[in-house]
Amino acid sequence: MRSENIYGEQMPAGSGASAGNAIYEAFGISEKVVSICREAEKEVSPRFAAIDEIAELNTLKVVKAMQDCQISEACMLETTGYGYNDIGRDRLEEVYAKIFKTEDALVRSQIVCGTHALALALFGNTRPGDEIFSPVGMPYDTLQSVIGINEARGSLKEYGVSFSYADLLPDGGFDFDGIRAGIKANTKLVEIQRSRGYSERRSFSVGEIGELIKFIRGVKPDVYIMVDNCYGEYTELIEPSEVGADIVVGSLIKNPGGGIAPVGGYIAGRTECIENCAARLTAPGLYKEVGPSLGNNRLLYQGTFLAPTVTAAAEKSAVLASAVFEKLGFKCSPASDEVRHDIIEALTLSDPAKVISFCKGIQKAAAVDHFAAPEPAPMPGYESDIIMAAGCFISGSSIELSADGPLREPYNVFFQGGLSYPHGKLGIMMGVQELVNDGLLKL
Ligand SMILES: *Cc1c(COP(=O)(O)O)cnc(C)c1O
Repeated sequence: MRSENIYGEQMPAGSGASAGNAIYEAFGISEKVVSICREAEKEVSPRFAAIDEIAELNTLKVVKAMQDCQISEACMLETTGYGYNDIGRDRLEEVYAKIFKTEDALVRSQIVCGTHALALALFGNTRPGDEIFSPVGMPYDTLQSVIGINEARGSLKEYGVSFSYADLLPDGGFDFDGIRAGIKANTKLVEIQRSRGYSERRSFSVGEIGELIKFIRGVKPDVYIMVDNCYGEYTELIEPSEVGADIVVGSLIKNPGGGIAPVGGYIAGRTECIENCAARLTAPGLYKEVGPSLGNNRLLYQGTFLAPTVTAAAEKSAVLASAVFEKLGFKCSPASDEVRHDIIEALTLSDPAKVISFCKGIQKAAAVDHFAAPEPAPMPGYESDIIMAAGCFISGSSIELSADGPLREPYNVFFQGGLSYPHGKLGIMMGVQELVNDGLLKL
């Protein structure tokens, strides 16, 4: 006996859409929600081939880098204490330098998150009297405390480092006149955020970042250019360090950790810049020589190895989320037919109750902590209350299926992750179902 699945393909009896519906039903997902999601999936699935191709080429790039660095079983071993001569740690940094095509890299589990990595890069590469300039509007929420835009003990502002920025144009493009005017004699470092963060603006392609860097070099050739690469890694074939950035920075519990890295951050860039960062992470004189890998080397390697395909799974999930929510009449950014440059999908739900409800649904799809109910709360480094849904293997990991957003106008919820596409899809269905169950959405 054979039956046809929704794509009209032959499937063995007992499998396919009808059997599939039963397991979705076990999650409390109605047939209507399943069919809406499957229809949306059918519309966007032709886009998946391009995402898979990028994952294929990036996987090869990673494997080649590991081979070129002679990664061996010995690299998986741990060191303790000072961590002198940790070949696994040192080689991993070489691997990162090859992947990002930079002179050097700092990849450490002692870097506790993306904000910490970015803070190291900012503190390390500026001195009192210098100015940091952002040509793409206000930086990510947590950096506002680091810089001292929000009063915070120990901020760059306390050390005499100032900050200025140029907003993007109303159409989301770069304001070249404003940027030229904003770069001054004491501008030491330019910070470009690739991804949207919790803002309305779109993310930038590596090509666009390259254009921007060229322009900035024309205005001030010797300025350090740093890219906040969070959520952008492996979504394209090249990284911002290949179009002129001196420093690229990100978190290992996002794309580049592949869902396996238990903690960590990376900074890849020019030798001088990396040494500046190492001086802040450890101490001047010690630099990269110290820092035990403890038991983390294998996990960081394995995560690096899986990162391109895990990023692709998250991207496909984001594309599906946009297609489903467009069908339901919500504004989504990027739109389902737009090219993506990061894994974030902003769904404009325009109602705090809907944001909370969707996040509850995402939480219910988790393999870990599915029974918890997320609630909005203040978070360190963020100005508004934040709701975060994440049932994670790695606490707070946002390459895993997650949804979050600040409870503020226009009530966007940011959907990201899914270590696998089927899990991303389950999350989207659970999110929609929760909105229906809470009486906030009629199908
Ligand atoms: C996640 C993120 C960061 C850093 O956040 P952490 O939670 O500290 O890892 C910085 N910038 C952007 C754009 C981000 O998305």
